[in-house]
Amino acid sequence: MLKGRLALVTGSTSGIGLGIARALARQGADLVLNGFGDAAQIERLRAGLASEFGIEASYEGADLSRPAEIDAMFARIAARGATVDILVNNAGIQHVARVEQFPPERWDAVIAINLSAAFHATRCALPAMQQRNWGRIVNIASAHGLVASVEKAAYVAAKHGIVGLTKVVALENARTGITCNAICPGWVLTPLVQKQIDARAAQSGQTVEQAKLALVSEKQPSQEFVTPAQLGELTVFLCSPAADQVRGVAWAIDGGWTAQ
Ligand code: NAD
Repeated sequence: MLKGRLALVTGSTSGIGLGIARALARQGADLVLNGFGDAAQIERLRAGLASEFGIEASYEGADLSRPAEIDAMFARIAARGATVDILVNNAGIQHVARVEQFPPERWDAVIAINLSAAFHATRCALPAMQQRNWGRIVNIASAHGLVASVEKAAYVAAKHGIVGLTKVVALENARTGITCNAICPGWVLTPLVQKQIDARAAQSGQTVEQAKLALVSEKQPSQEFVTPAQLGELTVFLCSPAADQVRGVAWAIDGGWTAQ
């Protein structure tokens, strides 16, 4: 379905981004991977995806907290005659602290990576999409783009912000073949969440398994984690012709979290 399309998935060396990259590649999309990690491991990942799905896969190591690196990444892609058809703004970080104890530099970092990077990448991707009158922008927000939790001021602000950005980009391109939508996952068991489970176990004296169940049950009525593969398939749907008129939504996939 996506043969001949090029997808840039930010933060695709791990977790949700990798799940989304795999699902898009399974549909034939070529990939630009991005994210941090060990160089040899990333190269194995890149080569593995290319051979498993018979696609072209490249890697861009841009640090998305630096706007100039985002511009340079798009310039390198353009220089090899390629254009991004599908942009998945997924890279993200977390910091947990009450507002009065929140380190200002962590606030800046969370806003830069979870919100501003999506603006910069979208700004860079749109002109070529507009020229071809086709494009898909999928922003990975969060249940925290719709509701709040304590101790996550920067994350909740960034995720509410990206839901707003999604709506504006959708409206500005409403009469084109470019759609922009947000996905709002509940808990997904990735390294980002494992850190929170480990901290919870350390603080409460629970085992890691007990802390994991407590964390997911507290917010998510299904008591089950969402998986990167499920998020990949939802992204594939948003890239399909069936989703041509899905524009500017914030789509919850959260085991019932925000239905409460
Ligand atoms: P993760 O830690 O497994 O992956 C994050 C990815 O972002 C990694 O590839 C990392 O290298 C990359 N990254 C981090 N900082 C970067 C930077 N400055 N420049 C480039 N890449 C950078 O986390 P995840 O859980 O897969 O999270 C992915 C997205 O999903 C985030 O936006 C997160 O907020 C969102 N999300 C996660 C959950 C969850 O429960 N895990 C729930 C809702 C939303």
